[in-house]
Amino acid sequence: MTTIVLLGAPGSGKGTQAELLEERLKVPHIATGDLFRAAYRQGTSIGREARRHMDRGQLVPDDITIRMLLDRLDQPDAKRGAILDGFPRTPAQAAALDAALKERGTQVDRALLIDVPAEDLVRRMAGRWICEKAGHVYHETANPPKVPGICDIDGSRLVQRADDQADTIRARLTQQLGALAEVVDHYRRAGVLRVVDGRQPIDAVARDLLAELDPQVKV
Ligand SMILES: [Zn+2]
Repeated sequence: MTTIVLLGAPGSGKGTQAELLEERLKVPHIATGDLFRAAYRQGTSIGREARRHMDRGQLVPDDITIRMLLDRLDQPDAKRGAILDGFPRTPAQAAALDAALKERGTQVDRALLIDVPAEDLVRRMAGRWICEKAGHVYHETANPPKVPGICDIDGSRLVQRADDQADTIRARLTQQLGALAEVVDHYRRAGVLRVVDGRQPIDAVARDLLAELDPQVKV
């Protein structure tokens, strides 16, 4: 099986690319956020354990996350491989994931970084508007509503959260980019890192990501 780790800052387009890769490679895109939500719904023992932490507003410990991830990798649809998205976020998580995969005789085959400079990320993220009623997301340039300030779907007013304003974003990003750089370094040292220019249009980024997978990695 082929394990791909997809790396990118918030606003890099990572979620979109993960879906495109999933479609092209016919392997599941595994986002840890989705895993937590599924475990929550299904009420498995590990899900309940994760839930205890989430209910207290704590981060789910790495060993629990990794066990959930390995369970997910055991599902039939992940037999040929998977695209991990949202994990690892720290070098310690990357090392723990390496160890867990090694025990199973596998490894991370490719770490793909969607590289976007910090100021471009700020510009992308600061243009985010959400609708008051249901939280539908729009973007000034990438995905504008048909009528400015109004949600296409339910007609409610679009507002900008304090979280989506440039200064707040810049401060938050600085922290996140530091952690990302360390994870990137981990995979660079392991020799599996490939970097793609994330400032390009979506199609071009997808093409470049696919080109960075060796033929034997293309499952
Ligand atoms: Zn809406």
